[in-house]
Formats: sequence, structure tokens, C-alpha cells
Amino acid sequence: MGTLLTFAEQRDGALRRASLEAASEAARLAKATGGTVEAVLVGASGDGLVAELGTHGVSRVHVFGDAALAAYATEPYARAMAQVITAVKPWAVFLPFTSMGKDLAPRVAAKVGAGLASDCVAFTVKDGRLQARRPMYAGKVYATVEWEGEPQIATLRPNVFTVDAPDPSGQAEAVAASVDTKARARVTASHATGGGTIELAEAQIVVSGGRGLKGPEHFHLVQELAAALGAAVGASRAVVDAGWVDHQFQVGQTGKTVSPNLYIAVGISGAIQHLAGMSSSRVIVGINKDPDAPIFKVADYGVQGDVFEIVPKLIEAAQKHRAGR
Ligand SMILES: Cc1cc2nc3c(=O)[nH]c(=O)nc-3n(C[C@H](O)[C@H](O)[C@H](O)COP(=O)(O)OP(=O)(O)OC[C@H]3O[C@@H](n4cnc5c(N)ncnc54)[C@H](O)[C@@H]3O)c2cc1C
Repeated sequence: MGTLLTFAEQRDGALRRASLEAASEAARLAKATGGTVEAVLVGASGDGLVAELGTHGVSRVHVFGDAALAAYATEPYARAMAQVITAVKPWAVFLPFTSMGKDLAPRVAAKVGAGLASDCVAFTVKDGRLQARRPMYAGKVYATVEWEGEPQIATLRPNVFTVDAPDPSGQAEAVAASVDTKARARVTASHATGGGTIELAEAQIVVSGGRGLKGPEHFHLVQELAAALGAAVGASRAVVDAGWVDHQFQVGQTGKTVSPNLYIAVGISGAIQHLAGMSSSRVIVGINKDPDAPIFKVADYGVQGDVFEIVPKLIEAAQKHRAGR
């Protein structure tokens, strides 16, 4: 049915997991419709990345390896994507709904005059056209959307689409490409803020803390549980607004959207604005002393009790498990 194009986002020479999710979903759709998958790789020239994409169903990678593109800049990256779209004429284009994808996708869509559906969580093909499922009104409802014209551009919510096991026989051809690297705004340096080492939006496990922890002096319980589980740390807006932790940790409508395999809400009531950012998590655990807390309506496992009794026990159990005892 033609070509599906994906954006292979990389950081420091390694492909982001969300890129592999996009490539895998494109490969599944291509298999079902009899098409092929191509990818755009910008800012890295690594043969290893091309080979890795090949094992995930990509048959051709357009590599913009210019060193001037190593750091993300909206304009040249959008130019590179638009250039490939114009040449390849894909029927659909997938980008991960990461910070970079959120910035890049609308620019690309505007450049090629195409429609964009963002934060998609499922796709089907009907009568040769793509249909996407995406949340609306902060996750209160899901909408099914269709595009007019082509290409049909979509961003994919991280951690929702599975990455198929790599097929060692899969091979991708690398096509060297170049683009005008001029940019009116460019990142010249980035400064780590001392945040968690695991990217919250892409984490497989997230432990989030809320006002039930009573004060910033107790937030270490969330951090210790997260460390013991190899999880990212999240927070409710109430504790961010109170200054316990930085806004980068906030999960919800006005924070980050997460979709981990396991989300543990510690002393979080489960307000609709919080649920908007985490309700698509695969397994949700709520720890709250109030049996009527709304978090229990979405939780797969509800632990009713005091966080100060339960969380230390969980930390101890997780640490023992990690140590193999
Ligand atoms: C426009 C708008 C946007 C918003 N965006 C966001 C957003 O992005 N993210 C977000 O999180 N919120 C957001 N909010 C705020 C949201 O409405 C809630 O106020 C907030 O999520 C509440 O945070 P919380 O659950 O930590 O606190 P609370 O609602 O105060 O809940 C604390 C919970 O802890 C429990 N608890 C207390 N003590 C204990 C204990 N010892 N052991 C166990 N449990 C205990 C209580 O039973 C309670 O359920 C937004 C609000 C608005 C209006």
C-alpha cells in the first residue's frame, strides 16, 4: 500500500525507545497492508542505528548525518522530514509524542500541508485509510479521528505501542541525505537540573507522591521506593505547587503524560487532572487511607492505609527482591 515513514529520534547516538515503538507500529501496519517502512534519522550517522532499525521492520533509513544537526533544532529537523516526505510520498508518517516529537510534528505537518493527530494510542486501517484513537478533554473521552488527504501524520504516545522482538534477519539500507542546517534558534548548551536519571515520560515504572505525604521532608519515601524499583519519580500538582519538588516531576493535565507498565500513586487523591496524565498506565496501584479516594476507581490494586506504614515496607521488600534475598 506504499510507504509508512517514521522519525527515528536519537539522543547521544542511541535510539529512543519511543522511536522503536513508532517503527514497530509502522511495521505492523505495513505488514497488514502490504507496504514498507522507511525512517528518517537526523544528527547521527551510526551504522549501528540503521542496523537496529532494520531489525524492527524498517527497510530504508534516510540519514542526515551532518554534525551541525547533532543537537536538535526545529527548523532543519522539520526541513529534513519535509524533504523526505516530498520525495518518498508516504501515506502515513509517525513520530513519537516525546518533547522533540511534540515540537517537530506540527512544524512538519504545516510544511507539507498535512493533517496531524497527536498523542495517538491506537491505529486501525479502514478502506485503505488510517483511523487513530486519541484522548480528548484531558483523557475524559477517546476520539476516533480520520485525516483528509495525505500524508496522514500522527504522534504516538510513548509506552503504549509495543516494541516487537528484533528480527535479526531484518536489514535496512542507509541513504545519505543532506539539508540546509540553518536555524534561527539553536540550543547551544543544556544544563542538567539534577532530576531523576530515568526519563519520566518514558519510564516503565513510575512512583508518584502526593499531599498525603504531609510535607517535603517525607518525599524521600517516594524517591527511595522509586530507586528500589528502578522507577522514575513523579508528583501531583499539589506538591509541585507547594514547592516540594520541581515542575518537571508533575504528572497530569498541566504536567507530563505517562503510560508506564506500573504506576504507583502514593498519597494522591486521583483528581481528574492527575488521572489525565496517567490513566493509560497498564497497572495502577493506589495507596491512600481514604477508601473513597477517586484513585481507587482507576486502580487495579488499591492499598487502603497509611503511606507511612506501607511505603517503608514496600521499600524494604523491593530492596530485598533486588538483592535476591
Ligand atoms: C486547571 C487545573 C490543572 C491541574 N493540573 C494538574 C496536574 O497536571 N496534575 C495534578 O496532579 N493535579 C492537577 N491539578 C490539581 C488537582 O485538581 C488536584 O488538586 C491535585 O491533583 C491534588 O493533589 P494530591 O492528590 O497530591 O492532593 P490531595 O487532593 O490533597 O490528596 C491527598 C490524598 O492523600 C491522602 N492521604 C492523606 N494522608 C494520608 C496518609 N497518611 N496515608 C495515605 N493517604 C493519605 C488523602 O486521603 C488524599 O486522597 C489541576 C487543577 C486544575 C484546576
